[in-house]
Amino acid sequence: MPSSRHITIAPQSGEAVAVKRGDLVRIIDPKGQQVADLWAFATEEGALDWLSTSQTRNITERLFPRIGESFYSAKAEPMLTLIEDASPGPHDMLYPACDRALYDHAGLPDHPNCQDNLLAALKRSGIAISFVPDPVDLFQNSPPQPNGRIDVLASINPPGGYVTLRAERDLLLVVTACSVDFHPTNGDACTEIEVEVTSPR
Ligand SMILES: [Zn+2]
Repeated sequence: MPSSRHITIAPQSGEAVAVKRGDLVRIIDPKGQQVADLWAFATEEGALDWLSTSQTRNITERLFPRIGESFYSAKAEPMLTLIEDASPGPHDMLYPACDRALYDHAGLPDHPNCQDNLLAALKRSGIAISFVPDPVDLFQNSPPQPNGRIDVLASINPPGGYVTLRAERDLLLVVTACSVDFHPTNGDACTEIEVEVTSPR
């Protein structure tokens, strides 16, 4: 019997979600216009591997995988495959997570941010990392322009827009509901993200 789990990521926060190979992971933006940052880590045999946006660009030779293509790890192993995109996109794979320094730069000290939310979620799962990989920025509207700019515009994802991914390994995922509220990124307000994990077993 398939079983499913539902995890709510509160606005401006993050959660770790452990998944098994073959699980389907749906990342849903219930209210619309909310960017979800996604990381994936593999810890088999004590060796850390992680979803690498640069390695994924390197292998797919695209800014973002197409349906049926995978996101790859630093060690060039498939981590997640994009099964379904029930959003208008676009998605981003160029930007880093928002972090304390970005908000300090914007004159907003001690602001919630995706990097701190990632590190806190990993810590709760007993994992420490010495660097922060760039995330996959789902629903982020920042496509490269012909003039070279990558302006971050308001997300155009409608309420309920989602993507579905298949785990290709046992993974620890971390999903954050992006905290940016000084820029149009997340529309008028930071809202929650829902994660639904369906196990075929
Ligand atoms: Zn963010």
